[in-house]
Amino acid sequence: MNTVAYRAKWIATAITEPFENGLLLVRNGVVERCEPFVRSIAIEADRLIDLGDCVIMPKPINAHTHLDLSDFTTPFGRGLTLPEWIPQVVAARKKNDSDDSSKSSKNAKLPIIPPLLRGVMETEVAQTCAVADCTQSEADAVTLQQSNLGGWTMRELIAPDRSRFDAVIQQATDFLSSELACSPSLSFPSTHRCPMRRGLAPHATYTVPQLFLEKLMSVATRSPMLLAMHLAESPLEEEFLKNQTGPFRQLLESLGISDFSGFAQNTHFIDLLGVLSRAWRVLVIHGNFLTEVDLAFLSEHREQMAVVHCPQSFSHFGYTGPLVSRLRRAGVRVVLGTEGRGSAASLDLWDEMRTLLHRESSLSFAEVLRMATYDAAVAMGVETYCGAILPGRAIETIMVRNFANNQSGPLVPKASEIESY
Ligand SMILES: [Zn+2]
Repeated sequence: MNTVAYRAKWIATAITEPFENGLLLVRNGVVERCEPFVRSIAIEADRLIDLGDCVIMPKPINAHTHLDLSDFTTPFGRGLTLPEWIPQVVAARKKNDSDDSSKSSKNAKLPIIPPLLRGVMETEVAQTCAVADCTQSEADAVTLQQSNLGGWTMRELIAPDRSRFDAVIQQATDFLSSELACSPSLSFPSTHRCPMRRGLAPHATYTVPQLFLEKLMSVATRSPMLLAMHLAESPLEEEFLKNQTGPFRQLLESLGISDFSGFAQNTHFIDLLGVLSRAWRVLVIHGNFLTEVDLAFLSEHREQMAVVHCPQSFSHFGYTGPLVSRLRRAGVRVVLGTEGRGSAASLDLWDEMRTLLHRESSLSFAEVLRMATYDAAVAMGVETYCGAILPGRAIETIMVRNFANNQSGPLVPKASEIESY
């Protein structure tokens, strides 16, 4: 038996208030006790390591990201509306793809790191232990499953016109039934590590009609899985759902879509939330403009549905106000994500926590840490693996050592101020 006792100035478990002078007892890499320091317990361990003036806390979980957009070095289009911003992403994506292929043809010896892999590397450097990624291809899903990250790779599905419905349902079915989707060696690298499982991400209110979502449920409810959908991100979505008019209509037409018969008039967010609620776990991405009726529904379904707030992206689009406090007051489970590098300066959850605390000063460090860890784990159905410092959790998925703290309590550190276990 190999037991190590760690002593630290603070321990922030994510499910309790941070406590001072903490003891973490680890046996063979798995947490056995986490409590205020008691010398008689600590000296029974094979080793006692005093970490000194630091904080031990769980690694964060990124509940929404698009890692394939990680070739953008800076966010762009600040202040644009969402339907103005999307064509810029599409154009920038095409430009980066052609730049990469011309670079690789000029010098075959210089490998180009695929954007998704860059995103995985940036995520791992920021000490994030699990993600819920909106994934574009089978190849990207396999890369994610071969990484050290746990969580979900969710195939992004876009089917605005009826002619695509069957093909996109098939795409979802193929993605879930891929041999690699359930390979024990890829999905479960060890008993205690969080697996990277497969789910689905019907993209957004303006690219996925309710009719398609209904059909998708026959696939999405065959097994316990995570679903994620962008919903109420922009104030312009309501007009599109109601009448299929406005800037989102123009955006889709500019992308060659002419058949809008799949969208029913007078659709509201609550109609889509009702369909989504049939899935095992659901992430409502952004939810910036949800109504009180929507919030009441999400509160009622908080054990299986959560809103993912992305603080840096929220600011990027010029939104303001205490959104997270409003959602939490209504009883909604709120978790945190980074979106992608098109609207966020980093893929670092610590940056997101700091941005949120700066904007909503009524929130505490402990509340924000919980959103980025334990609540995210519950929302993604991975709470048995990570998200809190609790007996039974593997130390590698839950523990970071943070040197940024003060005498009255822990602060959100920069990634460079953290040491991982
Ligand atoms: Zn997104």
